[in-house]
Amino acid sequence: MIIDVAVENLIQYAKSHLLLDDLDEMYVRNSVLDLLKVDSYTQYEIDEDAIDEMTCPDEIIAPLVSYALSNGVIKEGEEDYFATKLMGLVSLKPSEVVDMFDDLHDHSPAKAFEWLHDYSIKNDYIKLTAISKNKHWEAKSTKGKLEITINLSKPEKSNKDTAKLVGQKASTYPACAICKENVGFAGHGTLRQNLRYIPLTLGGEEWFWQFSPYAYFNQHGIAINAEHTPMKVIPATVRKLLDFVDYAPQYFIGCNAALPIVGGSILTHDHFQGGLKTLPMHKAPSLARYKSTDEEFKYVDTAIVDWYNSVIRLVSSNKELLVAYAGKIIDGWKEYSDESVEIIAKDENGQHNTLTPIARKAPDGRYIVELILRNNLTSEKYPDGVYHVHPEYQNIKSESIGLIEAMGMFILPGRLDRQLKEVESYLKGEKDFKEKELAPDMKIHAKMIKKLIKEHGTACSDVEAALAIKEEINDVCEHILDNTAVFKKDAQGVEAFDRFLASVGIVKA
Ligand SMILES: [Zn+2]
Repeated sequence: MIIDVAVENLIQYAKSHLLLDDLDEMYVRNSVLDLLKVDSYTQYEIDEDAIDEMTCPDEIIAPLVSYALSNGVIKEGEEDYFATKLMGLVSLKPSEVVDMFDDLHDHSPAKAFEWLHDYSIKNDYIKLTAISKNKHWEAKSTKGKLEITINLSKPEKSNKDTAKLVGQKASTYPACAICKENVGFAGHGTLRQNLRYIPLTLGGEEWFWQFSPYAYFNQHGIAINAEHTPMKVIPATVRKLLDFVDYAPQYFIGCNAALPIVGGSILTHDHFQGGLKTLPMHKAPSLARYKSTDEEFKYVDTAIVDWYNSVIRLVSSNKELLVAYAGKIIDGWKEYSDESVEIIAKDENGQHNTLTPIARKAPDGRYIVELILRNNLTSEKYPDGVYHVHPEYQNIKSESIGLIEAMGMFILPGRLDRQLKEVESYLKGEKDFKEKELAPDMKIHAKMIKKLIKEHGTACSDVEAALAIKEEINDVCEHILDNTAVFKKDAQGVEAFDRFLASVGIVKA
């Protein structure tokens, strides 16, 4: 394809999908030519209908990048950088995106977020093609269905990597990967020239919302504090979450626990995660009804959720009341110890008790707040965390269990895609299993392979082998959720949960 046609396709794509204004068309075309170091141009007829029907810009970008590479405009390894730069150039400016969003939001918050999401796919910020390669399945479990995905685009981080980042000095620009200064930024291998976000006011503070290019689920995004300030879970966090669901009533939003081992992967910058998704825990019914002995909170629906880990569900139409009530539980839990069930709120190593609060709106408009109790204690038996993934399951998942997973949607590392194919080959008898001959990165799976061979033999068909492995993973994911429960489901754990609730004035209804 001659370069003139490729450029014209890009301009037409931007007019059709990215709201490029006719008055800006010539200016943007010339800027693209400048970027490509092309100084003469013939405008060719192009297939406008085909471009109108495109769902993402892959076909538009490819010939431009390939031209840039073969004509020395860029070097090998700069392809993604160049593609992102091009797409940033033909996208609306951040202010124009905000104006458009605000206009839509006045009529329908859901439409506004849907528009920004679609715009972010169309300008290649959200990588639709890469995301569609992720593996996804539903696992029947003892508590409804779990969702399991193998994410092929996200790098795996261990708890040690995350801990290393805590307390790290903000010496670079931008201070971290989610700071607001990333908009348009292209340094350090970040590709954010086409990032567009929208401002939010949460709890009277300046925040903003951007979608996740990794996209674990539909319209997955993060709400981010405009200041680079550490994560924290305090009563005021609940007010911010509820302000968010007032602004985006179609979304759930949650805050990761703010401590290593049980928190998210970025603890240095205050942020929430949310999106257009009903997670497995949201569907879990209440296990038992409770009530507050406090006159003020008496009429707030209070329940324990029938879920793997320890979750308190509060429902009310009164926002202020809910903030105060959840705040009381948060403050109470942070101080609560019960050594009979290995819960130590804090010790010489620091704070251990923390929470994951999640908010959403019920169809009747009432607010729902769910508090998942978390603790990051380590012990001699469990040096990685008493309530972290236990060692026997870490071959499947070693990263901390953040809020999405605590609610039953697993994001498993991309390495599994390759490793599980090798496991399949043993079950199908294509390869002889010899533990000593396992490649270094397969050794972690030795125990699981032996167990699977014992249960299923080595003459499985393709379908049988794949199914056996899936079932094993489903089983592991359920166990991982059990590991994260601070109050176990046995009689001792159930009684201990009730004792904690009583300590914050909550009793069986
Ligand atoms: Zn930051």
